[in-house]
Amino acid sequence: MRLQGKVALITGAANGIGREAAVLFAAEKACVVAVDIDEKNGRETVATIEESGGKAVFVRADVSSNDDCREMVAVAEQAFGRLNVLFNNAGIMLSSDDDAIATDEEVWDRTMAVNARGVFLGCKHGIPALRRAGGGSIINTASFVALLGAATPQIAYTASKGAVLALTRELAIIHARENIRVNALCPGPLRTELLMKFLDTEEKKQRRLVHIPMGRFGESKEMAQAALFLASEESSYITGATFLADGGITAAYVTPI
Ligand code: NAD
Repeated sequence: MRLQGKVALITGAANGIGREAAVLFAAEKACVVAVDIDEKNGRETVATIEESGGKAVFVRADVSSNDDCREMVAVAEQAFGRLNVLFNNAGIMLSSDDDAIATDEEVWDRTMAVNARGVFLGCKHGIPALRRAGGGSIINTASFVALLGAATPQIAYTASKGAVLALTRELAIIHARENIRVNALCPGPLRTELLMKFLDTEEKKQRRLVHIPMGRFGESKEMAQAALFLASEESSYITGATFLADGGITAAYVTPI
């Protein structure tokens, strides 16, 4: 059991990567704090874990709120006595996010508030708890778009993920001597709601797939497995990493067809 005795807080745990990670971490014997604004699906994640004999609690929290982030960490310590793993995974990609000319300030601000400030606030309140536990692992979900530009832009989303990558590196260095590791998980395009609601025709899907060497979208489960590695002691000498799980997309100049 790779997370025996560990307490893991996962944001965005109601759907997609966060949900798969919550279920997988619990199967590896972590006590899971499932955080989301989506109460219905968040409670479903907890129910799924409990049905399999695992331990989990749901916390309704908006990661862009300082008070909510303080509360989610407090619940983790109250419910399970400590915090060992912090997976800052919640994120949004808004349909009106476009190039610099077409994107409204509100879209920019909301995207940055959830995707970048949300990670900052998770760390602001989570790191003192990890210190109290004697150290731990932080995983921040960035994206391959933090490393590559696209001609079909989502400028606010891309900038927010660049911020996640940069702050991950700095946090990793600051806390390296405290037994706290901080890594960025950079998924490629996934078959989750976040992306599929935009790629809603076969033609749009195919246009994206030509850029992925493996020729398919990634699965939430595959990201959960990468996050599990970063959460566990198996990655004990890895910190500050840009951990790509992208089907080869960032390695490619031309993809095979
Ligand atoms: P998803 O939409 O399936 O899940 C995201 C979850 O975050 C949802 O449950 C949502 O309710 C929650 N959430 C949104 N705003 C929140 C807030 N303010 N506070 C708390 N929870 C909030 O998406 P996913 O694909 O599982 O994405 C998870 C992470 O992976 C995100 O950070 C996303 O940017 C990143 N990512 C996704 C892809 C992809 O192709 N899907 C690629 C790269 C990176």
